[in-house]
Amino acid sequence: MNQMSISPSLYGDRFNCPCCGAFSHQVWGDLQIDAKYSNGQRGFLSRSFGFSDVAGAFTVQGTAVHLDGDSVEPTWRYSICSSCSESTVWRGPVIVYPEDLTTPEAHPSMPLQARELYEEARATFPVSRRAAAALARACLESLLRDIEPANKSKRLDEMLASMKTRLGDDLWQLLTALRVVGNDVLHGDRDDLVLLLLDGEADVLIEPLFGAINTIVDKEIAQPARTQALYDLIPQAKRQAAEAKAIKADSAPLSEE
Ligand SMILES: [Zn+2]
Repeated sequence: MNQMSISPSLYGDRFNCPCCGAFSHQVWGDLQIDAKYSNGQRGFLSRSFGFSDVAGAFTVQGTAVHLDGDSVEPTWRYSICSSCSESTVWRGPVIVYPEDLTTPEAHPSMPLQARELYEEARATFPVSRRAAAALARACLESLLRDIEPANKSKRLDEMLASMKTRLGDDLWQLLTALRVVGNDVLHGDRDDLVLLLLDGEADVLIEPLFGAINTIVDKEIAQPARTQALYDLIPQAKRQAAEAKAIKADSAPLSEE
């Protein structure tokens, strides 16, 4: 892309379309729902309303949807791209469709249980950043238990404390941020990190935190497996000779050469 991309925003007139990527004009509307409301003795009348999922806006009886309030502020909207004519669906200021691609895909070597939590965090992100952060934290916990058997009975803060040197400072700091924000966001804290998670651009916080989980998988699982596979290609006799030499050098006093 040779021009700066403009992120989609609620009621934005022009931005880079989440469907086709083109910088294009957008036409906005409220998602409609057919609702029935009582009109006394004349029975039920039907009308279309902008759909709101705010608690108490509607009740559902059988197949009929009843509007409970006189006026409901719609929460669901669409924007149609003038370039590709596709619709983007919004719930408040958050894009629900198409799927948010800001969060990176799970590393192919991620263990199953951690992967399930990761995928759920990724899918949840467009509708609840709070839930996504809590799920990403749970994913981290599962992953660290998987890669280090000594972590089995430890809490997440204890696991991270004991793995600081192994993980390296950069990665450790990102994972600590993920642990803290995943925890604080469930306890109603409003510190700067939580505010950045809830209100900030996705790529400022989410991309590095989800990326950090993939980095551990690569560093602790994929990379050692790749190395081992390569090493196993060395003819056995040469491997053994090299290993014997390494053991000898390790136990010998410093060379005088
Ligand atoms: Zn488009």
